[in-house]
Amino acid sequence: MIPESVSSVGLKNTSHKMLKMSDELVINQTRITLIQGDITNQDTDAIVNAANPSLRGGGGVDGAIHRAGGRAILDECTRIVKNQGPLQTGKAVLTTGGNLKARYVIHTVGPVWHGGTQNEAELLTSAYQKSLRLATTHGLSSISFPSISTGAYGYPVQEAATVALRAVALFLKHEPTSLREIIFVLFDSRTYQHYRTALEQLSEMV
Ligand code: ADP
Repeated sequence: MIPESVSSVGLKNTSHKMLKMSDELVINQTRITLIQGDITNQDTDAIVNAANPSLRGGGGVDGAIHRAGGRAILDECTRIVKNQGPLQTGKAVLTTGGNLKARYVIHTVGPVWHGGTQNEAELLTSAYQKSLRLATTHGLSSISFPSISTGAYGYPVQEAATVALRAVALFLKHEPTSLREIIFVLFDSRTYQHYRTALEQLSEMV
């Protein structure tokens, strides 16, 4: 019989391992990690902004990034919109990170949720994959994503988490990349838990 103290230590170790496993997944040479936190504190090469087409900043993560990054980001965004018009849903552009620890901000526009009838999943997939391609084009090795579209844009988190992680996994399986670290920075514990569940499901498939 295993003494009580030994068996509970064993159990603790097992659950710790499980926690580690469900927070991370490595595909080819790139690690996907989930954390709960504020994306403006990340020191990855780039952080991704869930922007709106005007690139003028706004609420949620967009407002937080512009506040922390300062005027240089907004100036570059204004120039981009002047040259090429508003950023379409599912597209991505890169600017300086301004005062942020991250060197760059990649701005992408996720879809507004309309009940799932207007190509929301394809557009959300595109927002993630276009951001990853842009990071690859610039030779970046690390990038952080927020949970795109699940705030003001109303995409249900459970579904968005599955789409987001599958988009990243498919990219890593099929496209060569300089990226070695992809971090999802989830703001609240509910969002974080949904991403963990989705990552666990994905781990069983890859
Ligand atoms: P969208 O308009 O694409 O829905 P939001 O910014 O409204 O974008 O919300 C997207 C997600 O970003 C939500 O889960 C929200 O809680 C989260 N969020 C807000 N501020 C931050 C932050 N500083 N860091 C990381 N995530 C954040």
